[in-house]
Amino acid sequence: MEMYPELKLYIGGSWRTTRDDLPVVNPSTEEIIGHLPIARENDLDDALDAAAAGFERWSQTSPRDRADLIREASRLMRERKDEIAHSISLEQGKPFREAQLEVIRGCEFFEWDAGEAVRTYGRVIPSAPGVKYIVHHQPIGPVAAFSPWNFPMSQPARKIAGALASGCSIILKAAEETPAGAMHIAQAFEDAGLPGGVLNLVFGVPADISNYLIPSSTVSLVAFTGSTAVGRHLTGLASSHMTPVLMELGGHAPVIVCEDTDVEAAAMTSAIRKMRNAGQVCTSPTRFFVHDSVYEHFLDVFTKRAEATIVGDGMDQGVEMGPLANDRRITTMVNLVADARDSGAEITTGGHRIGSSGYFFEPTVLAKVPHHARVMQEEPFGPLAIVNSVDSLDTAIEKANSVPYGLAAYGFTNRADYADRMVDRIEAGNLSINTLEASLPETPFGGVKSSGYGREGGFEGLQAYTVVKNVSHSVSIV
Ligand code: NAD
Repeated sequence: MEMYPELKLYIGGSWRTTRDDLPVVNPSTEEIIGHLPIARENDLDDALDAAAAGFERWSQTSPRDRADLIREASRLMRERKDEIAHSISLEQGKPFREAQLEVIRGCEFFEWDAGEAVRTYGRVIPSAPGVKYIVHHQPIGPVAAFSPWNFPMSQPARKIAGALASGCSIILKAAEETPAGAMHIAQAFEDAGLPGGVLNLVFGVPADISNYLIPSSTVSLVAFTGSTAVGRHLTGLASSHMTPVLMELGGHAPVIVCEDTDVEAAAMTSAIRKMRNAGQVCTSPTRFFVHDSVYEHFLDVFTKRAEATIVGDGMDQGVEMGPLANDRRITTMVNLVADARDSGAEITTGGHRIGSSGYFFEPTVLAKVPHHARVMQEEPFGPLAIVNSVDSLDTAIEKANSVPYGLAAYGFTNRADYADRMVDRIEAGNLSINTLEASLPETPFGGVKSSGYGREGGFEGLQAYTVVKNVSHSVSIV
């Protein structure tokens, strides 16, 4: 298998390196595995010009031809699944098996959006004889997109799929920690025959790139996935140029465990799901509100399963959880755990960094965490679960809604009235009952409150990438 690829920018259909670079580190070993070229203003100017030209051409390409090309690129990525998974496991740390699943998921995003490309239907509004009102959905224009490091391939895939399926060109800044996932995507599109300039890939200092691209009159949409703080900043920047945004931001997902559920199954599946991608998932189940009558049982099963998680280098056989993506996450975990402990929480397992080389952290369960502890409000984005008891579903819903986030939420119950109450009252863009799957390519995904706005996936997924134009046409001059 090929080792980690040589990192390059992809602008106007050709690959380039730059004078300055940043090291890319394997989070399992802290070894430098690559050098990230840093885009400077001249590179960004080239990317903007290329995206403008790419948009002219791609927006005039038929939706069917766009769909065919996206499907061909996706076929190539499926063929290269192991090579891509190898790169992203090295740069991000996740178990190889999870990385393979991520590549498949990324391909599914491309395939779904390719299907949607031919379904951006408009409508005809009835009118007087000789007059027609026709609503068109047209591609919005060149997109500046920013993808995070937690899913190095499937996060860029979501943005590229939406843009290309809609007829937009895109400049993607992929995360500096995990650039190879996006590079593999660009390579597949080049090999599939995508015209130069439609997809441009840059890396570098995030603020330098967003400060340069977003004010450009070429950019018609800003799409971002990452923290609420950065999302808010970029939204401010975009709004001063009247540029629309698509924001997929942080979450702090509540899980309501009702007294009627199968406690053992709910606890087992929750503990396994919590540790997926070392908890670095915006939909990660984190704040568990468990009915008093089943609390101790749930906590016991959850703690034992969390403790049994096999942690190690993502490339090693049998590993269930890799390291955190960078040392910033270790610092956050250590601080949140210390604050929770000082606030009176019990740590039923974990709470510490593992070893001194690699960013490994123990699967951690905090119980009976007081409301004022920082972790009750701040997204941990790591392998940390809070398990608290509640006396009723109403209390659980109140606590679930007590944070500024509203991305994913979960419930375990077999009672129709409980499920119905959750559907009506939980503040979240995605609610899953008796499953911890928050989204599929065919379902709309996104947040409410500080978790952002706009949707990716489902038929809603292309809406952000299109603008509505109403055409009034009279057969004679009136
Ligand atoms: P961060 O806020 O510094 O960065 C988050 C992402 O935003 C990174 O990919 C980074 O490259 C990018 N970014 C930062 N400043 C930027 C700027 N000025 N312009 C453009 N992009 C910029 O945080 P971090 O330490 O990298 O990650 C931790 C937090 O990020 C987590 O707490 C989590 O909330 C959030 N996050 C969310 C997701 C998600 O899927 N929603 C993914 C990764 C990280």
